[in-house]
Amino acid sequence: MHFHIITLFPEVCKTYTDASVLGRAQKTEKGKGAKVRGKKIAVDYYNPRDFSTNKHKKVDDRPYGGGPGMVMTAEPILKAWQKAVGRKKDQKKVKTLIMSPRGTVFTNELAKKYAKKYDHLVLISGRYEGIDHRVKKALKAEEVSVGDYVLTGGELPAMAIIDATSRQVPGVLGTFESLEDERVSSGEMYTRPDTVEFKKKKLKVPKVFLSGHHKEIEEHRKKQG
Ligand code: SAH
Repeated sequence: MHFHIITLFPEVCKTYTDASVLGRAQKTEKGKGAKVRGKKIAVDYYNPRDFSTNKHKKVDDRPYGGGPGMVMTAEPILKAWQKAVGRKKDQKKVKTLIMSPRGTVFTNELAKKYAKKYDHLVLISGRYEGIDHRVKKALKAEEVSVGDYVLTGGELPAMAIIDATSRQVPGVLGTFESLEDERVSSGEMYTRPDTVEFKKKKLKVPKVFLSGHHKEIEEHRKKQG
């Protein structure tokens, strides 16, 4: 899966996508013996400012019809998109998402669908009051929200979507982790030491977890919801 992120703040996102599981998934890895694990994902960044023809590299303007704030102009974003996937022959395998608090709410089901159906996911992060609506039309893009709240930019939503979608790409997680993932979240968890002291109280791991009886542990977790 190849992710293309269009953002005015690539450096803010790159630190995240280069770390941990996502960072590893972008590299070829030497496994045991001569086994080589290929790259599972690629992540590329495009800054609309680099595509602005304005001499001050302007990427926003006042909204037609008035209203507060500024709107991101269409052309630099469309040019960035052209650079990212404009020449991909099989456009059926390209999906373009615009981050928007008014979009379809992103879920793990959508993450699975994206991972299965597409080779290229373009994520457009808005800033200011949003993006000129012609971008959506021109790119046949879908607006996606990460929840019922408003952020200052689409970078965090883009990171959430890349993270959750990558976990659904075969080989990004180890076999054990992917089995765990089937449950969406793993429930109550503890690790060493078995007693932690905090404000003069002893916080103990419930006995059942120390027992090693996997069935009982599973039942306990279910009961706790
Ligand atoms: N007044 C604007 C808010 C813009 S917030 C409006 O009503 O749409 C600025 C940018 O942050 C948006 O263009 C979008 O890309 C991003 N954003 C903010 N909240 C978001 C959310 N919940 N989900 C996805 N993107 C969001």
